[in-house]
Amino acid sequence: MNKAALITGSTSGIGKSIAIAFADAGYDIMFHGLEKDGPQIAEKIGEEYSVKTAFSNANLKEQDAINELVSEAVKEFGKIDILINNAGIQHVSKVEDFPLQKWNDIIAINLTSAFVASRAVWPFMKRNGFGRIINISSVHGLRASEYKSAYVSAKHGIIGLTKVLGLEGAGDNITCNAICPGYVRTPLVEGQIKDQAKAHGLSEEEVIKQVMLKKQAVKEFIPEKKIAELALFLAKEDSSAITGSAYVLDGGWSAQ
Ligand code: NAD
Repeated sequence: MNKAALITGSTSGIGKSIAIAFADAGYDIMFHGLEKDGPQIAEKIGEEYSVKTAFSNANLKEQDAINELVSEAVKEFGKIDILINNAGIQHVSKVEDFPLQKWNDIIAINLTSAFVASRAVWPFMKRNGFGRIINISSVHGLRASEYKSAYVSAKHGIIGLTKVLGLEGAGDNITCNAICPGYVRTPLVEGQIKDQAKAHGLSEEEVIKQVMLKKQAVKEFIPEKKIAELALFLAKEDSSAITGSAYVLDGGWSAQ
């Protein structure tokens, strides 16, 4: 029986790359995201890699929808072996202009949803004596940048959650780790390039060079594939002693 992975936000960007890598490694995948072509993405990847897939567009701002997402995945696959809390949004604005609604949405989607989903999968992982929870944090879980108060707060918070779940899962073979990427060129970042250009009064090209990759020693976007490879490593059966940690893939940003 294949292992089953529930990956939030897996119909776009980093989550989609992780889902493809897991499908390629023989995992059944519960796809999730707000993209309209989500069902087609899930079906196509399932066919291509000969694994079972399903899709949900649960709104992660709603606790009931997250619980339902987990129930659907368990109904579909009989279990959840891997939970990857990946979905996230961004808003770039000076603190004095930062809308409370944006703050609440970012905390809900980037932080609270990971807690709710982890809490919902926990009894199933415990029952199976196996669980791997991987939280996609960010280098912004360890370092700050101006104009990102909510995002930096949520990403720091999810590293705290990762540590607690790592401790609580020990003994039940449930591990929890975080991955902290630098900049990855996904739809989320494309949006930020535009927002940052406005906030800094620069062209989009100038933002990429002078603002985004400025803090990375390696002046390249982080390849999505590398994040997927690290997630696959953390998900392995024999990675049981690796827990409560935050792994940076940030082109040397946090080395400074
Ligand atoms: P993306 O915009 O390509 O994908 C985000 C996914 O989250 C999409 O599938 C979207 O539908 C889903 N999502 C957003 N709001 C949702 C909601 N309310 N309910 C359900 N699903 C929702 O973004 P990405 O760049 O692939 O980011 C994925 C994760 O990686 C995020 O947590 C992000 O913070 C993190 N990250 C990204 C970068 C980067 O440079 N791109 C760097 C570090 C960390």
